[in-house]
Amino acid sequence: MTESSKDKSIPGKHSEPDTPARKRKYIFVTGGVISSLGKGITAAGLGALLENRGLKVSLQKFDPYLNVDPGTMSPFQHGEVYVLDDGAETDLDLGHYERFTHTRLTRFNNLTSGQVYQKVLENERNGAYLGKTVQVIPHVTDEIQKRIYELGNDSDCDVLITEIGGTTGDIEGLPFLEAIRELALDVGWENTLFLHVTYVPFIKAAGELKTKPTQQSVAKLREIGIAPQIIVCRCEQPLGKELRKKISVFCNVPYEAVIEEKDVEHTIYEVPLMLQRERLDELVCKSLDLKTEPADMQDWQETIRKLIAPQHRVRVGVVGKYIELNDAYKSVYEAIIHGGVSNDCAVEIEKVEAEEIEKDEGEHTLRGLNGILVPGGFGERGIDGKVKAAQYARENNIPYFGLCLGMQIAVIEFARNVLGLQKANSLEFEPKTPDPVIAMMDDQRKVTKKGGTMRLGSQECVLLKGSRAAEFYGADSVRERHRHRFEFNNEYKKNFEKAGMVFSGLSKDGKLVEMVELPDHPFYLACQFHPEFQSKPNSPHPLFSNFIRMCLENKSANH
Ligand code: GLN
Repeated sequence: MTESSKDKSIPGKHSEPDTPARKRKYIFVTGGVISSLGKGITAAGLGALLENRGLKVSLQKFDPYLNVDPGTMSPFQHGEVYVLDDGAETDLDLGHYERFTHTRLTRFNNLTSGQVYQKVLENERNGAYLGKTVQVIPHVTDEIQKRIYELGNDSDCDVLITEIGGTTGDIEGLPFLEAIRELALDVGWENTLFLHVTYVPFIKAAGELKTKPTQQSVAKLREIGIAPQIIVCRCEQPLGKELRKKISVFCNVPYEAVIEEKDVEHTIYEVPLMLQRERLDELVCKSLDLKTEPADMQDWQETIRKLIAPQHRVRVGVVGKYIELNDAYKSVYEAIIHGGVSNDCAVEIEKVEAEEIEKDEGEHTLRGLNGILVPGGFGERGIDGKVKAAQYARENNIPYFGLCLGMQIAVIEFARNVLGLQKANSLEFEPKTPDPVIAMMDDQRKVTKKGGTMRLGSQECVLLKGSRAAEFYGADSVRERHRHRFEFNNEYKKNFEKAGMVFSGLSKDGKLVEMVELPDHPFYLACQFHPEFQSKPNSPHPLFSNFIRMCLENKSANH
């Protein structure tokens, strides 16, 4: 600590208000050795177990990068941008939190270094620290702690699970680690738990699992004053007694606190059950003195059973431009799998690179698919391939499901190939098109800033009586999450309607097209919103369920 920070206020100035009835518990999940270990799934899995023990849980993700939110990052850099009801553009781990638990998430559940620094600098300009030197400790760390306490209070949870993004040893993660170390002092160690997720690699040539990286990453944490009480070991092979013992001794945790989290065999939804078998939740409750019944995971087991041994199988093509990156369409892939669960059906997802279709005259890439889905996206690359995929689906009676950009693609295709407007396009891809069937929304025209400025979050969509959309939802109106700047151009509405396209969902004021469908096609349905963000394994989204149902019918019709 530097000289000038000695005049910092004593840690604890944000201490939570007294809650005599119960003391809130804080679990911090850190990651060691490498990224992409599935910390988010581990945190979400633990959340699911604690919820099923009757506890009120909230989950929070800290991202140490300087972007204010991931909304401005390419999916190639960061994977999918997950959108919440309140319109926050967040890290994809929040998707896992929502799919695994019932916790209600808002923009306060995801904090980036960018937001922290923005706030601290704003405070500084407003004179909040007058006379003081503004420093990482205490000003940045205080701001981080504040966000932990605020979320705890707002969500009124029994347990707050905070996941720290990145890997131990990253320079940018240090303020977060310092903040949680201090927080443990404030709230008492008996109310805090540090859980470290690490990697135990299998070295093929030696035929052995190696614990050294785990030892070193724990040592790195201890260096900054955090001694993890639970070590979750991600591994491809079982740990075995000897290795558990070794990790226990070298990392200074009891033997039972070395948790094996082996790669799951079938689905990530097995993770909570695996953690339960390892008695993670029991251990957590014991350490935090939480008295509950064991977690009732019957429902969850039932879902897993359906996922593991389905009767049927279909092949669905997802046509995109970030196809090589698994995380780029995370929620879409998950929602497709959920749609399979409600149909007792395994879905083989064929990841189709849109540009490949452009080159492929005979549409070989699409042949044999039982359904085609075009997800959201931005920018011109791959658009013609996606239009071709939509045309192929429409002309060959193959179920087509368009999400956001996928709806705009369906509209462009219809304009070009049914209405004969050969140069029809979206103004996003061709500003000089003579037929802008997709145009920029009015209130987007004035927008110049990029971050958080699209039409975002939950909006009402009114469904047309008698339409497929209304039938699938079983409702007159729904709320779905959005993230777009462009919309269907209403000047073309009459032409489209005359040629058979039905506008089955509209915004509440009737001005924005939210859903389109073709009634004489087995399933040709597209929406301007992102239903994938509201699907869960144990409550699949109705549009995805019906899409997979029709893919199955397509399969049986072709055999
Ligand atoms: N790029 C399109 C728009 O901004 C679609 C956005 C999306 O698919 N999320 O309207």
